[in-house]
Amino acid sequence: MIKKYYLLSPGPTPVPEAVLAAAAEPIIHHRTPEFSRIFMETTEGIKYVFGTKEDAFILTSSGTGGMEAAIVNTLSPGDKVIAINGGKFGERWGNICKAYGLSCKEIVLEWGRDFTKDELEAEIKADSGVKAVFATLSETSTGAVYDVRGFGEVVSKTDAILVVDGISGVGATACPMDEWNIDVLVSGSQKSFMIPPGLAYIAFSPKAWKRVETSRLPKFYFDAVKAKKNLEKRTTPWTPAISLVIQQKKSLDIIKEMGLEKLYAHHRILAESTRAGIGALNLEILAQKPGNILTAVKTPPALDGVKLVKVMQDKYRAYIAGAQDPNKGKFFRIAHLGYMGAFDVITALSALELALADMGYHFEMGGSIKAAENIIKENWT
Ligand SMILES: *Cc1c(COP(=O)(O)O)cnc(C)c1O
Repeated sequence: MIKKYYLLSPGPTPVPEAVLAAAAEPIIHHRTPEFSRIFMETTEGIKYVFGTKEDAFILTSSGTGGMEAAIVNTLSPGDKVIAINGGKFGERWGNICKAYGLSCKEIVLEWGRDFTKDELEAEIKADSGVKAVFATLSETSTGAVYDVRGFGEVVSKTDAILVVDGISGVGATACPMDEWNIDVLVSGSQKSFMIPPGLAYIAFSPKAWKRVETSRLPKFYFDAVKAKKNLEKRTTPWTPAISLVIQQKKSLDIIKEMGLEKLYAHHRILAESTRAGIGALNLEILAQKPGNILTAVKTPPALDGVKLVKVMQDKYRAYIAGAQDPNKGKFFRIAHLGYMGAFDVITALSALELALADMGYHFEMGGSIKAAENIIKENWT
């Protein structure tokens, strides 16, 4: 049997055909006017999606490298920081901070639970001398989206900087860096930016740049001062991932042509149709405030959640994502970000229905498809 593969995970995500083809272009040398032009246009595109007038830097690493760059460039040993830990990726902020010897107060939330700006304000007030607050726009392990705009209102009134992991969210949901008072914004290439894994993006506000000047944590490869000096010369300190930059420029062309408002509306329709489908199956969504990037769904208590995902992946080749440790099996995650369309939602729901039926769950076959189609029909343009 032909086993067609359906990538429906929240990263890596599918890559548009024209962007895939760009990877096959011959390698050009990176210290040339030709590459500089592509590099600077790509940088401009990242700034557009980030909503910032500040420089945006392209790092050769996965998203986590961008998170590490945010920390090593703005902080000094022993600095007091707060990390909002609502899942696997919020937890990573705390882990990197601890690895660098920072004094990190982690706010550990039950997975899927929201965290408000008022709660953050109380945490900051409870502690004097907080140098940075680490937050996540879209917590990819739970599907929750946090009130980053509200966090910006709170943190901008203090001496602390707000550092945001926008690795799955930026490009799928609004996160205008300058307008929302975000001091450091990080993203990565293999989620909403629609290219393969391998690049991270980072930008610093003027308030964060002041920190960069005095930061004493060790750094070399991810040194933002070196990156800035080189960007002024339209280049990078080290050999860039040339093909990925070329691919990113292609995919940013698609994004710019569509415009951010339309891009976010597209993700909203995909999310709403997915949620309607899930509701029709009488299944429950994990996140208190679900975002439009992915939908985490609780496994029905009678079923083995690890097996459910395995059936979808192995039998139907629908690569949705399971839940990460320590919640393996308790829920599963359907992605609808990046290069995805209405029929990716239908595919995911159909594979879910088939796997549920295989495992003896009782429901009306086709119900989720119908519910999703109704939303698509009303909203598609
Ligand atoms: C994917 C992801 C990361 C980790 O990025 P890597 O590219 O795997 O290093 C961090 N944060 C969030 C929110 C993510 O979705």
